[in-house]
Amino acid sequence: MTAEKTNLFGLDRNGLRDFFAQAGEKPYRADQVMKWMYHRHVTGFAAMTDVGKALRTKLEGIAEIVPPNVLFEKQSSDGTHKWLLGMDAGNAIEAVFIPESTRGTLCVSSQVGCGLNCQFCSTATQGFNRNLSTAEIIGQVWVAARHLGNVPHHQRKLTNVVMMGMGEPLLNFDNVVRAMSIMRDDLGFGLANKRVTLSTAGLVPMIDRLSDESDVSLAVSLHAPNDALRTELVPLNRKYPIAELLEACARYAARRPRTTITFEYTMMKGVNDTPELARQLVKLMRRLPAKVNLIPFNPFAGTRFERSDESAIRAFQKILLDAGVLTMVRRTRGDDIDAACGQLKGQVLDRTRRQAEFQRKLAQGVADAA
Ligand code: SAH
Repeated sequence: MTAEKTNLFGLDRNGLRDFFAQAGEKPYRADQVMKWMYHRHVTGFAAMTDVGKALRTKLEGIAEIVPPNVLFEKQSSDGTHKWLLGMDAGNAIEAVFIPESTRGTLCVSSQVGCGLNCQFCSTATQGFNRNLSTAEIIGQVWVAARHLGNVPHHQRKLTNVVMMGMGEPLLNFDNVVRAMSIMRDDLGFGLANKRVTLSTAGLVPMIDRLSDESDVSLAVSLHAPNDALRTELVPLNRKYPIAELLEACARYAARRPRTTITFEYTMMKGVNDTPELARQLVKLMRRLPAKVNLIPFNPFAGTRFERSDESAIRAFQKILLDAGVLTMVRRTRGDDIDAACGQLKGQVLDRTRRQAEFQRKLAQGVADAA
């Protein structure tokens, strides 16, 4: 029986140093290998010329560097690029790169499917299958970086990563935190802390844990300013209502003096886009270093929701701005290739049993629920 090889995409710098130490090698070898992997997009040990020949041969026996398999990719007329990446057993997830004049943002998935069942999200219609491994999460960044010819500190085409693809990142805590550490490592993708953003539907205890264990920008999917409406749209609100959620956000911000928390608010016609709701939102936002991101709803097949009219979005934004709340309207990008927020679908097979298990663990408040 041959021992399974370790996929080095699954290890952050400390993990890789331990791996080398355990193999009887000097830990600094980890730094050399990381540079090959993340700065030069090399996956074969044979090409790593500053690593001795004997070690290269040894590595070939115990390790591998395997990126996700690109099943399909597509570029939008606005430059947005989407990858469908194959996982195990016929499952697939999506990652999206969005180029803008001053930055390039990659939207990364954290789970195959999602179990939170937000009513207006296409990923929810697929149900939950499993958490992605660290290698599968960082592999998305690697595939995009290689495609772009991104070289940290030189050719920075990929400047930001947002954990806003498929899945709830705080329910896959350890793998997501490890992957975000590689994104921010100089030997990895070298992104500044504030340029890596984790977006959550609002798992209160896990926001506190994130605050202890990582230092990234936080985005919260709010979508409604009162509990009755939010519970309808984001069922997780029943467990963690708005007041508790905002207290967790305040604690996160209190430990990071210059941080701003982004509140995502998807604009759905006749549902959450009235002036009265904007005024309610103002009251919530005033107490925090907050920025509101209004996302025009992106429709998908079978949804009962519609996008708010442009005039309603502008009026909603004006109420917030007039009250001194920083508010942007997110431009819809990549909608001709179904790459916009909430449209990521991938492919989720065999979800029923895992879906039930996920719901049970979630009810118990267990993280890493897969
Ligand atoms: N589970 C995390 C990550 C998803 S991020 C979270 O909830 O934050 C994707 C963002 O797009 C979230 O704010 C999500 O609520 C929003 N979204 C989902 N479906 C959408 C749709 N159809 N149109 C616009 N935004 C949507």
